Amino acid sequence: MIYAANWKMNGSTKFVNSILSEIKQSIAPHIPLGSKIILCPPSIYSSAAVMFCKNMPVEIGAQDCSSHKDGAYTGEISADMLSDVGLEWVILGHSERRQYHNENNPLLFEKLLLAQTAGLKVIFCIGETHQQYLNGTTKEVLMQQLSILCTPDLIDLDYIIAYEPIWAIGTGVVPEFQKIEIIHQFIKSHVSEKTNRNCDIHVLYGGSVNPENANQLKSLSDVDGVLVGGASLDPEKFKQICL
Ligand code: PEP
Repeated sequence: MIYAANWKMNGSTKFVNSILSEIKQSIAPHIPLGSKIILCPPSIYSSAAVMFCKNMPVEIGAQDCSSHKDGAYTGEISADMLSDVGLEWVILGHSERRQYHNENNPLLFEKLLLAQTAGLKVIFCIGETHQQYLNGTTKEVLMQQLSILCTPDLIDLDYIIAYEPIWAIGTGVVPEFQKIEIIHQFIKSHVSEKTNRNCDIHVLYGGSVNPENANQLKSLSDVDGVLVGGASLDPEKFKQICL
């Protein structure tokens, strides 16, 4: 099982030190063999997190990277830089980036290529709006978002997919479990058909995961883990989700 935490733009030095200490003491030692935790703090805290989590079953990721390799792009952080400071993962395609920063397939494709070159593993987020869900076009939307991942240019990319219905993010609403199962199966069969990757396609569920629904979500056969936003900022809740 993979437990990924997206802290978004939250925290402070004090908060990061305290939550990492909690994870070190009461979560990481109890994570079953074969499971892993991926923490994605704001980039400014990621080097400190890498140092802190050495020798723990915890990997550190970024929440985004630049679509440019290097150069005059004020404020940007490149995939190479993330890798240089010891990060192993980057989240790409999060709906908040798609919505607030107009990230689309061509731009995300550039980011995916750069992540591949930098040797970063990717958590690639996909998901539909509530309207699309109600219209019954979820699969079409997901196929369109997945199309860039399924190109031969990304044959060497190490990635997992996070299915995050936009309408479930931060709302407390989660799709019916059976629907999640069907969508995860669809994502796996679609990607394996388009890429010839078979058993190594892992799909996380994300969107309002909390201690009350985590066990049921984790028990679904095609859910390989969870991507947790809000609840990952509370060490007690994150512990209950992971253990
Ligand atoms: C997210 O934004 O990736 C997310 C899963 O958020 P939340 O858990 O708060 O719904």
